[in-house]
Amino acid sequence: MAHWCLSWNWHKVYRVLGVFPVFFTLGLLGWSIEVFFATVLPAIRDRGPVHAWLWGPVLTGLWLLSVWSYGVCVMRDPGHTLVRRPTVSSHGGTDRTPYIRVRGSEVSPSPRRRRADSVGSNSSDDSDFGGRLTGEQLRQAELIQCITATDGGQPRYCQKCNAAKPDRAHHCSSCGVCVLRFDHHCPWLNSCVGHHTQKPFLLFLGYTSVYTTALGGLTLWYYMYRMVLEKMGDISIECLFMMCLTLAFAAALWGFTAFHCYLTLNNLTTFESYVSNKYRVPGAAKGVQPGDVNLFDLGWRRNLRQVFGPSRRLWFFPVSTSAGDGLRYPINIDAYNELQRTVD
Ligand SMILES: [Zn+2]
Ligand SMILES: [Zn+2]
Repeated sequence: MAHWCLSWNWHKVYRVLGVFPVFFTLGLLGWSIEVFFATVLPAIRDRGPVHAWLWGPVLTGLWLLSVWSYGVCVMRDPGHTLVRRPTVSSHGGTDRTPYIRVRGSEVSPSPRRRRADSVGSNSSDDSDFGGRLTGEQLRQAELIQCITATDGGQPRYCQKCNAAKPDRAHHCSSCGVCVLRFDHHCPWLNSCVGHHTQKPFLLFLGYTSVYTTALGGLTLWYYMYRMVLEKMGDISIECLFMMCLTLAFAAALWGFTAFHCYLTLNNLTTFESYVSNKYRVPGAAKGVQPGDVNLFDLGWRRNLRQVFGPSRRLWFFPVSTSAGDGLRYPINIDAYNELQRTVD
């Protein structure tokens, strides 16, 4: 195989091809609102039983919020890890302190994590960090002081990115990077759902579910009214197609919305709902997988604030309010103590 073929960056090819589902989604959203204003709304205004003045602003508002949330999901970086190589410092020596770079911010050797919230740092037994990782890799992993571990109890490290994996981060083979609080790679977004895009993704699901239900239901009601009460059978094919499509999308989207609401209330990602985390526990020779116990579950109220932020006024807008930097997550101290007792 030719050298250029081997060195070809397929992730960039996927990213370029991935814009087609994005344009398709935007096209569908644009087409649906166009049919609504061109066909459904005038018909309702002329002879329908519902108030056009009410449904026009309601559907327009839902559509704008849906498109806004979708745009943020596509454009915003979900958060990823990059390793910066050792550099020559200003005093002429070599600065060998590695750090993780996340969205332009740096995590240098930091104070130990606060015990009340995160007990990953209370492990003074670093014997679990032995094994196959090199010394530099171990130092990088220790900088972010994770509570999650591999099967063998080692800190998690991505050989593809050559970077330590913070808690809940996983490598996305489509994007070619480790994504913070990795949920899943979404081809409809041409991006991952991660720490910085979890909130807009949930809002997009919610707004689009309500929008498609309202639009499909309104159109269905209008046609039933005309065909049953007015005995009129002239139906616009475009309108009928739009109605069937929006109702089908609504059914699918409500399923996704309900699933992601369940995940958010339990502080789980889609990935974690299939693959349980393993945790570092002092005294345990291997990573501990405590059944279906999730150490990141802080109770549904705090779980909601993790994703949507502290200000309820901003919960319904896809602005950046999620708690934390995506590198560290508070854990349930009671669940952790219980886990430690089972190891002891
Ligand atoms: Zn990676
Ligand atoms: Zn991805």
